[in-house]
Amino acid sequence: MATRAIVTGVFGQDGSYLAEFLLGQGYEVYGVYRRCIAHGEDENVAHLKNHQNFKLVESDILEYSSLTELISDTKPEFFFNLAAQSHVGYSFKVPIETFRVDAEAVIAQLDIIRRVSPKTRYYQASTSEMFGGIDCPKHGYTEQHPLNPCSPYAVAKVAAHHAVKNYRQAYGLFACSGILFNHSSPRRGYDFATRKITHGVAQIVAGKQQYLPMGNMDAFRDEGHAKDYVKAQYLMLMQDKADDYVVATGDGATIRQMLEYVCQLAGLAYDDVYRMNPEFMRPSDVPFLLGDSSKIRSIGWQPEYDWKKLLKEMFEHDCSLQSSANVNSLQIKRTQEFTSKTART
Ligand code: NAP
Repeated sequence: MATRAIVTGVFGQDGSYLAEFLLGQGYEVYGVYRRCIAHGEDENVAHLKNHQNFKLVESDILEYSSLTELISDTKPEFFFNLAAQSHVGYSFKVPIETFRVDAEAVIAQLDIIRRVSPKTRYYQASTSEMFGGIDCPKHGYTEQHPLNPCSPYAVAKVAAHHAVKNYRQAYGLFACSGILFNHSSPRRGYDFATRKITHGVAQIVAGKQQYLPMGNMDAFRDEGHAKDYVKAQYLMLMQDKADDYVVATGDGATIRQMLEYVCQLAGLAYDDVYRMNPEFMRPSDVPFLLGDSSKIRSIGWQPEYDWKKLLKEMFEHDCSLQSSANVNSLQIKRTQEFTSKTART
């Protein structure tokens, strides 16, 4: 019988890549999602649906009774918690919901595992946003750097991060946090900066949009490819000892430099494309995030993508969507409605 893994947030960017990767390694994957698949939100895993080892489980991660049942019935080798209210900007609008999903649910999962399946190895999706982006060391933030959360999202992630450590120390659970720096892909949500850039510029090239409204262009982000980052998540749980790891490329750019680069790929002038929109500014922003991933590299992780290779792949993908019947117009429409109600880059 195949070894089992539970992946929450399986319809999301990382969840879908991780499910794909684990199936390739021969695991039986239980992918937890929370929405009705009739709306096309399952597009990231549509290609996995017929895989004999892929099972979809509908459950909100705040529904602790059904999660208890799932963990108790499957006794998985691995539990990857990737579900989250993952938008930093939106967390200012829904701080309570963000705290419940991104912090409370993590404590509930750890406690369920402690009670019903203590051998299960647990992965929590921590984030570079926990560092707050000031006083960044020359070579980037390491696992030891003090945390300074600057958004409701980061506050919740810090609480979850400490809970993982606490369950590891107090109960001996094999629980790890991956402190992941920004990562994107052609499966990135349309309301995150990298995707706004690649999709927006592709729309301009196709004549469907005139310019690109953006917020703070000075924020610097260490940016990699989600495909590389899910391999790091798996690697952490394969070690002899549970620990926390920074995952980053050690390279990056400002949002302005990213847009300039994609404009260059498209043969467009930056000034013709960019429009400042104050609605996308956040109450507090994180200016500079660079990661020092020496620790995870010392156990064998190596990213294949840098930010330019990533953006090129995303831009080419978004250009191909312009003429393809594959474009998920419903998802884009929902995102545009959502984006117009919120303020973020
Ligand atoms: P994502 O694409 O937004 O995926 C998150 C998934 O979680 C979505 O499918 C979402 O479903 C689901 N979800 C949200 N609330 C839920 C709930 N109550 N019950 C069940 N599912 C729920 O995010 P991602 O980029 O793959 O990131 C994966 C994880 O890594 C997240 O925890 C994120 O905070 C963290 N992280 C991401 C980055 C990055 O740069 N991508 C960096 C550091 C850490 P809906 O669509 O229905 O909301």
